[in-house]
Amino acid sequence: MTLARSLFDKIWESHTASILRNGQAQLFIDSHLIHEVTTPQAFGMLRDFDLPVLMPERTFATVDHIVPTDTRVGPFSDPLAEQMIQELRANCSSSNIVFFDLDSGRQGIVHMIGPEQGITQPGTTIACGDSHTSTHGAFGAIAFGIGTSQVRDVLATQTLAMTKPKLRRIEVNGRLGPGVYAKDVILHIIRKLGVKGGVGYAYEYAGDLFERMSMEERMTVCNMTIEGGARCGYVNPDETTFAYLHGRPFAPAGADWDAAVQRWKAVASEPGCHYDDVVVMDAADVPPTVTWGINPGQAIAVTEEIPTIESCAELDRASVAEALAHMKLKPGAPIAGTPVNVAFFGSCTNARVSDFAEVAKYLVGHKVHPSVHAIAVPGSQLVKRECEKLGIDRIFKEAGFEWRHPGCSMCLGMNPDKLVGDQLCASTSNRNFIGRQGSQSGRTVLMSPVMVAAAAITGAVTDAREFFNIKNRTEV
Ligand code: SF4
Repeated sequence: MTLARSLFDKIWESHTASILRNGQAQLFIDSHLIHEVTTPQAFGMLRDFDLPVLMPERTFATVDHIVPTDTRVGPFSDPLAEQMIQELRANCSSSNIVFFDLDSGRQGIVHMIGPEQGITQPGTTIACGDSHTSTHGAFGAIAFGIGTSQVRDVLATQTLAMTKPKLRRIEVNGRLGPGVYAKDVILHIIRKLGVKGGVGYAYEYAGDLFERMSMEERMTVCNMTIEGGARCGYVNPDETTFAYLHGRPFAPAGADWDAAVQRWKAVASEPGCHYDDVVVMDAADVPPTVTWGINPGQAIAVTEEIPTIESCAELDRASVAEALAHMKLKPGAPIAGTPVNVAFFGSCTNARVSDFAEVAKYLVGHKVHPSVHAIAVPGSQLVKRECEKLGIDRIFKEAGFEWRHPGCSMCLGMNPDKLVGDQLCASTSNRNFIGRQGSQSGRTVLMSPVMVAAAAITGAVTDAREFFNIKNRTEV
């Protein structure tokens, strides 16, 4: 009798090249995504050892982290940005690596270009020097964020030494309410399980909610897996996955396509397979969720009050006190109504065409509040072009958003897009750590794109369901 197996076990076993003396698996990496910030040192180390890039055909590069979004005319005023981009250009050229450069028409945030180009495929292993590589799990891939020395290892060996995590199935069934989105789902999961709840686990997102989700929604969910402590998270591949990939430049074509689909179907978890843990949630319980603190688990419904220190578990009180002090928020006060200075619409969590299109529906006829600086940063050149073709850019610009070039932008504030002083930013990004958006005293409130739009217009954290009179939900 053959035991039912999970997608995770199948991929792990088929990619284990050897077991190392320390017990770790040496995992073969199918696709390695690289960008300008975590590679200069890695390529330098390769040169020190006189090693080539072992499999340049499995390595794909883009510029995103430090590239400016207000201009595409170089040389860029930040000498570090200019140097990093030039170095990546030279390294890709000398190693024959495909590079989605600024003039390629296909540049974008690293976790956007993998799926857009059809590089991200079910049943594969993917690595990238960015924590949010978990995004690619939306396709039924096992995808890990890695550090610079591991980028070096993958460049040199196309493998990674990894300890196999346990597997948790997170099953969410039912329908989301109007004005509730994939971003709310993952913020809710992290709130319930904690930012360390997933340490030592891989997550399988299952249940009819995820089955009904579009690929873009699944990417939003998988993107923030790392914020809940799990290195990777995935959704089993299905017809939605295959339809998304069909015809993309690096996806299989012709007879190879049919064979690939058969392979991809076979990699999905089988009924009755083993999970080390199972968590079940009801989609109807997910509210529009916003963070109030300095990690993504410090989150509440937009209708709730900011917690008091006394209301929190003894163990959490020190971090709650630190968060309240940093955020300058009043314990016990409603989070709705908190003044907002900056609205950031971007990042690999929520800067896809469907995100912009959903917000555009509600933005028409509205103006950004005079006290709010609002920027919209498409996740890739493909997204930017498609939004412009659909007239979405015009709606954003008429409302008062700046319409930028693609890049990570204010997700991490490595380029000139930074908070100033203690500005509070309503943000579609994934991380609200102290200093994340470029100012040590800056404050980040994570939320869905439609909630960011409501905050931009009203100048305060706002329940978008009431403000935009959202009565129906169509997409999930
Ligand atoms: S948008 Fe943010 S999380 Fe995504 S790749 Fe860039 S820096 Fe990383």
